[in-house]
Amino acid sequence: MPSHSPDAIIIGAGIIGASICWKLARAGLRVTLLDAGTVGGEASWAGAGMLAPGGEVETRDIWLDLALESQRMYPAYVAELEAESGVSIDYRRCGAVEIAFDDTECQALTSRAALQRPLGIPSQPMDRSDLHRMVPAFDRDAAGAFFYPGDAMVDPRDITRALRTASSAASVEIREGWRAARIDLSADAVRVENSRGDALHAAAAVLAAGAWSSEIAVSGITLPELPRAFPVKGHLTGYQLSPRTLGPILRRGHTYLLQRSSGFTIAGTSTEHVGFDRSVDAQVVRDITARAGELLPALEGERVVAAWAGFRPAADSPGPVSQRAADSRLWLAYGHYRNGILLAPVTADRISREITGTA
Ligand SMILES: Cc1cc2nc3c(=O)[nH]c(=O)nc-3n(C[C@H](O)[C@H](O)[C@H](O)COP(=O)(O)OP(=O)(O)OC[C@H]3O[C@@H](n4cnc5c(N)ncnc54)[C@H](O)[C@@H]3O)c2cc1C
Repeated sequence: MPSHSPDAIIIGAGIIGASICWKLARAGLRVTLLDAGTVGGEASWAGAGMLAPGGEVETRDIWLDLALESQRMYPAYVAELEAESGVSIDYRRCGAVEIAFDDTECQALTSRAALQRPLGIPSQPMDRSDLHRMVPAFDRDAAGAFFYPGDAMVDPRDITRALRTASSAASVEIREGWRAARIDLSADAVRVENSRGDALHAAAAVLAAGAWSSEIAVSGITLPELPRAFPVKGHLTGYQLSPRTLGPILRRGHTYLLQRSSGFTIAGTSTEHVGFDRSVDAQVVRDITARAGELLPALEGERVVAAWAGFRPAADSPGPVSQRAADSRLWLAYGHYRNGILLAPVTADRISREITGTA
């Protein structure tokens, strides 16, 4: 291996790869961070930023353990990142309100909340006055509502901006527009090559290319088949409202609303199995807008000022793919699907401690 080689190469500079990179650099490793596009330019740019096990998990499985652990880690992760980067991060533990419009929805919410409480996801039923006090903008009747005090939100674009600054300050070499095509493994090293034939060598590498992770060939030593990564497209839309018009996240089924501190308010979402189609579909945007208006009638007169789509990194595996590839020098960190913003701190902590041998 050339003497100027880094200790570790991270392939993919989304929130997952960039968080692992930052942790490794803080531990004193020389790290090169590669991205086919730009740092934080894909799913981690598109994501809404709900840190909300309450809206996502209702069974005891690997997602639950990781979600709760990462939720606990978030305040320190944000504080350290702000301190080291000087970038201010829009993070709030605002809670979430889950709304039911009729008795059937209300029963479903009540049973779900009862399943979640013993799992460590607390919630409280709300009456009409609680609801109007907590969400004055909610100007319609509800059959029921539950408050999830632990849920929070963050602007993931702030996080990736901060990760970039903090990593640069820690001497990470960042190469954008560098699309890895092949990873060659030997017993104690990794070689990463792009489509132009340029190659980098290191003692360890992390495959964190999100929905694209399976496009990169892995060869050299025999490994069990790696879980397949694939994209699940999601649209979001945005409104510019006055700041503090919405406190907690508001949810009903697959529709949600959350507000950044600036007042920018995000409505979501869709779940589409259409491969890497980047187009913004006007019909899907209309559907989200209609559902958002039904959830919060105050939005009906408001103009949609932004609409965008991104690719959630799904994988053929029971949980996110966050592990060493057998006993090779390659670690896998992809498949975080709908929860990669939430799961960044726990993934970075676990993978970086395995690589540095402090796990
Ligand atoms: C609409 C939507 C809403 C979401 N809302 C939430 C939410 O509220 N809360 C939450 O926790 N999660 C949410 N998510 C999911 C979350 O955004 C993702 O799980 C997370 O961003 C995944 O991060 P990542 O770093 O794995 O992937 P990405 O951010 O996609 O990063 C992968 C990087 O790899 C790079 N890359 C690809 N191929 C190569 C290659 N060959 N060589 C080098 N680099 C390569 C890409 O350019 C990209 O920058 C949402 C996602 C979407 C789309």
